Amino acid sequence: MQFIDFGLDRKIQTTIEHLGFTEPTDIQSQAIPAAMAGHDLIASSKTGSGKTLAFLLPALQRLTKNRALSKRDPRVLILMPTRELAKQVFSQLRLFVSNTSFKSVLILGGENFNDQVKVLEKEPHFIVATPGRLTDHLDQGHFYLHGLELLILDEADRMLDLGFAEQLTKINKAADHRKRQTLMFSATLEHAQVNDFAMALLKSPKRIAIGHAHTEHKDITKRFYLADNLTHKESLLTHFLENETYQQMIIFTATRDDTERLAQKLASEGHSTLALSGELNQSQRNKIMESFSKGFHKILVTTDLASRGLDLVNVSHVINFDLPKHSEEFVHRIGRTGRAGSTGDAIAFVGPKDWISFKNIEGFLQMPLEFSVIDGLKAKFTGLKPKVQKKKVASKKPTDKSVNKKTKVTKKVKKPIRFSIEDAGTMPIKKRTGGGLTEKDE
Ligand code: AMP
Repeated sequence: MQFIDFGLDRKIQTTIEHLGFTEPTDIQSQAIPAAMAGHDLIASSKTGSGKTLAFLLPALQRLTKNRALSKRDPRVLILMPTRELAKQVFSQLRLFVSNTSFKSVLILGGENFNDQVKVLEKEPHFIVATPGRLTDHLDQGHFYLHGLELLILDEADRMLDLGFAEQLTKINKAADHRKRQTLMFSATLEHAQVNDFAMALLKSPKRIAIGHAHTEHKDITKRFYLADNLTHKESLLTHFLENETYQQMIIFTATRDDTERLAQKLASEGHSTLALSGELNQSQRNKIMESFSKGFHKILVTTDLASRGLDLVNVSHVINFDLPKHSEEFVHRIGRTGRAGSTGDAIAFVGPKDWISFKNIEGFLQMPLEFSVIDGLKAKFTGLKPKVQKKKVASKKPTDKSVNKKTKVTKKVKKPIRFSIEDAGTMPIKKRTGGGLTEKDE
């Protein structure tokens, strides 16, 4: 199948050709015709699979071919969980609308509210937004959604995990009419809240599942290394920085403080490093992402803020300095490399604090994960073993008579499995908060 077979409008087809794309990816082959036929969709697809065009092309086609339901209201609303993702989608959209009369705006938290009011007054056809700020404008009547033709929710699972359910419900109600089409994308379709939302928002949707989030990404080589503690992880990182040939690298840490500390350390060692974390204001974040995507810096240290969707073609290595709490996040993090057919390396350090996450990731990926070892950097830590609960020596069974009437009868409960740190050496482990900090955008 080729893009030309979709019968897209000539201008859209020309832009696709300018981008050098001829064949649609799997998700595009399935989602584009279904969406063009007017169906609601709930679709899952792995990271870097061409999801953005899978919803942008039918949206552009619909606006080109159909008459607007309202002259003033936005026609397409695309919601994303984070500012970075929204900016990325917006930049792809701009490529397609630049040779048309369609107006598009980007509405993000952290940016000037009054400037946004002014662009909304210009009655854009497309809005790309994060849900919090968009709802603020909706509440204040800066635009209405009665004429909305297409509502697109990307990374719906992440939006719900970040607590945007209320905003999404509000937006859905504001655009509640028969002619609205809804396309919902999620990293996984096995997410209870996503399914509840799909039931509430979608009309007889078509379900498209192109590989699950835990499907192995064949272009990415995964390597795991045991680590005793923070110092050991730093030594491993130094080894990779000195011995691997990398174009650009993203290093994921557990917390903002870890991001700052590690970035400062790397910079002081002469590595070209940037740190991206949620407490920065929007313009600082923009500058950092721009600088990294233009290749001005080689290393980006970050939390999960940069784990989803960002399309950075030169990232050859992803290092999980700390593992994320949620297994799916691991798949998203490593998906920052190996984009659109290129290969990538994903390296993860597994210390005592990462062990439970590691076992969860192994379960999630449904495959045993093996450890690699570097000469001279072998860890003493070999993993945590489930602690065997010592059985209490059975005391004499009390006779009915010996039981005091006031004694509470407690139900037998299953003992939780506890993990103990064995073989972790005697080195102190700095107390830090758990992995996988998730930062929420407005
Ligand atoms: P996405 O999953 O939308 O973030 O896309 C990942 C990358 O694949 C982006 O760099 C896209 O420009 C690229 N891409 C999207 N569709 C195609 C296609 N049909 N052929 C080749 N590359 C594509």
